[in-house]
Amino acid sequence: MLTLLQHIVQDVVAAPTFQDALRVIVSEVREALGTEVCSVYLMTADRQNYLFAANEGLNPDVVGRATISVDEGLVGLVGRRAEPINLEDASQHPRYHHMPEIGEEPFNAFLGVPIIHHRQVLGVLVVQQRDKRRFDESEEAFLITLSVQLATIVAHADAVGGIRALTDANFAAGDLKFQGLAGAPGIAIGTAVVMHPVASLDAVPDKQVDNVVVELIVFDRAIGSVRDDIRRVSEQFAESLPREELALFDVYLHMLDDDALTGDVRARIRRGEWAQGALKNVIREHLRRFEQMEDPYLRERATDVEDLGLRVLAYLQDMSAHKTHFPKDTILVGEEITPSMLTNIPADALKGLVSVGGSVNSHVAILAHALDIPAVMGAIDLPIYQTDGQSLIVDGFYGEVYTNPSEALTAEYETLRSEEHDFAEELNELRDLPCITQDGWRVLLWVNIGLTGDISRSLDRGAEGIGLFRTEVPFITQDRFPTEEEQRRLYREHMEAFEPRPVTMRTLDIGGDKALPYFPITEENPFLGWRGIRVTLDHPEIFLVQVRAMLKANEGLEGVLRIMLPMISSMTEVEEATRLIEQAYQEVLEEGFNVKDPLIGVMVEVPSAVYQSRELARRVDFLAVGSNDLTQYMLAVDRNNPRVAELYQDGHPAVLRALREVARNTHAERKGLGICGELAGTPIGAVLCMAMGYQVLSMNATNLPKVKWVLRNVKRTDARRMLARVLKMETAEEIQRYMEDQLVEAGLGRVVPSYHGRVDV
Ligand code: PEP
Ligand code: MG
Repeated sequence: MLTLLQHIVQDVVAAPTFQDALRVIVSEVREALGTEVCSVYLMTADRQNYLFAANEGLNPDVVGRATISVDEGLVGLVGRRAEPINLEDASQHPRYHHMPEIGEEPFNAFLGVPIIHHRQVLGVLVVQQRDKRRFDESEEAFLITLSVQLATIVAHADAVGGIRALTDANFAAGDLKFQGLAGAPGIAIGTAVVMHPVASLDAVPDKQVDNVVVELIVFDRAIGSVRDDIRRVSEQFAESLPREELALFDVYLHMLDDDALTGDVRARIRRGEWAQGALKNVIREHLRRFEQMEDPYLRERATDVEDLGLRVLAYLQDMSAHKTHFPKDTILVGEEITPSMLTNIPADALKGLVSVGGSVNSHVAILAHALDIPAVMGAIDLPIYQTDGQSLIVDGFYGEVYTNPSEALTAEYETLRSEEHDFAEELNELRDLPCITQDGWRVLLWVNIGLTGDISRSLDRGAEGIGLFRTEVPFITQDRFPTEEEQRRLYREHMEAFEPRPVTMRTLDIGGDKALPYFPITEENPFLGWRGIRVTLDHPEIFLVQVRAMLKANEGLEGVLRIMLPMISSMTEVEEATRLIEQAYQEVLEEGFNVKDPLIGVMVEVPSAVYQSRELARRVDFLAVGSNDLTQYMLAVDRNNPRVAELYQDGHPAVLRALREVARNTHAERKGLGICGELAGTPIGAVLCMAMGYQVLSMNATNLPKVKWVLRNVKRTDARRMLARVLKMETAEEIQRYMEDQLVEAGLGRVVPSYHGRVDV
């Protein structure tokens, strides 16, 4: 059963078009279950009807044309109930609706299962048979299992307009929205350039070319080069390798000479495909054929075909590497964009970035931030290889990508972009003004920083201090642990630039999704594993060196050094870390440095720290809430997983109540209180935190001017009134709506996206 399922799914995935995929489904399911009829009905865009999308056994002429209402017949009932219906004699069912227009005869046995993706019914898969018989349990289970797997494929096709295209051959999907994660803020409109890692067949985009002759020449040259390589290697190893191994080279040469492989590629190129795409598709077809063979020896040959394909591809890519053209509005798109890919592009041509893999903490997202390039990470559903050369809109504020945008949508985003730009210019005037509410309440706006490039951006935007120096960033960019002196110099550079402002240095926070290339941590459950302070307490040599570097960097400066501990989940960790800091301090003094005693703080990032915030506050100088992690741990939602991105709500009532709890406890101990998660950099989050009495809001430099503008235009008394209301609310959505209304009423609608014209497609 499992093999059969796998075969069907493999064939469906391999089908060149969605229409072919549907044909494969109905034909293979019909065969597998031995039924007379198999059909797929798909929900139309207006959600009023099901399209008779594919069928075997009924009238083929109406496939792709006939529709039935969602309230009609047994198909409608399966969809509405969102569960399978298995009937021995369908004609006796009160909902039975005979449809002669699709060639339906009075079939009796009926089994329909819904195709559901993310709670939404996308269609219904049906098998029917003339005999009165009940499909047995295993048949029902088979169809359900298949439908669950097909749902992703159907959802994906739907997202790229595949279902619309079934009824309208001229339909060009436009304004399609793909959700990812907000990697770096801003809006970019431009042309997609798909980057692919060298020699990965899967990563080769499909492209049509005009100049077939050039592609044929390029392909033949690549084949020639591979052939030469193989001959050379074969000669080189002639003495040392056993005869059987050497025979493999002959097999390769034979495959290259054999028209089956190269002939197919040439045929595809003649039909207009570029050489790399043609090669990819032919290799895939061959792989599929080999993999389906029962003979293990022949199945093994699949590896050879793939290997050979990769060798040819490497040459093809080498030949075209220098030709990649970067238009002046390049939006870089890739399966996994790496920092090195950015280096190939002229700096002023790069306008945006979209990565299917990676998270907001990925190195490349951090780099995009530093370069002020809007970025979307984790756009898992984006069919990147079809986007090459297409227009794209990247909304780095909301983590959204639109492909093939219409003129109207582009115009709206252009307006939004220029509004953002004008607003930012206006906000420049606030740069040197303090952040004081209308009724005189002072809030400190500091920045989160990681790369040296952030310094000038932060100061330009009026940062009054560093609230979070993510020290892991310079660690990630190296190929070994940086030395004490290297760290000291880097930290000093920041402290001098910010002098006399305070600088909060977080001790190394690795683990989770932040790995050092030279210190790999492999775990089943990394976010609940060896992370943050847990790693550095286990490696005091790393911790001590870092703290010593921080202390020395601060020598002779007025700016206060604040050392902050990440991922604290128990008092013992604080005890141990403070002891080590004290040790480092004494050592540095003994070495003759004239350093000041630093302030020590704890990040509140896990629920246990919320409930012990009173004791923690008693023990250290300040607390700073890391709302990014606190949200993920309180709500049990992975902050980097786009599949559950909707559940990741830092404005969730539980999170806000936790923030208030921390505020009360810290105030009771009269200690410093700040917040440095993304929430602090949002207008709504900032207003609520200010109302709770957070003295320091630390955020990305980009968000700082906007937050200052909002806070300077509200009264704390009003904010406290809003907070009181909010703390009684039950959902994040309700809170969001209420706060947006409040901001609009206060004349601050410019920072409310839905208000100032953001379009929801
Ligand atoms: C946080 O968790 O909120 C935080 C500021 O730290 P990071 O995002 O670096 O984990
Ligand atoms: Mg954190």
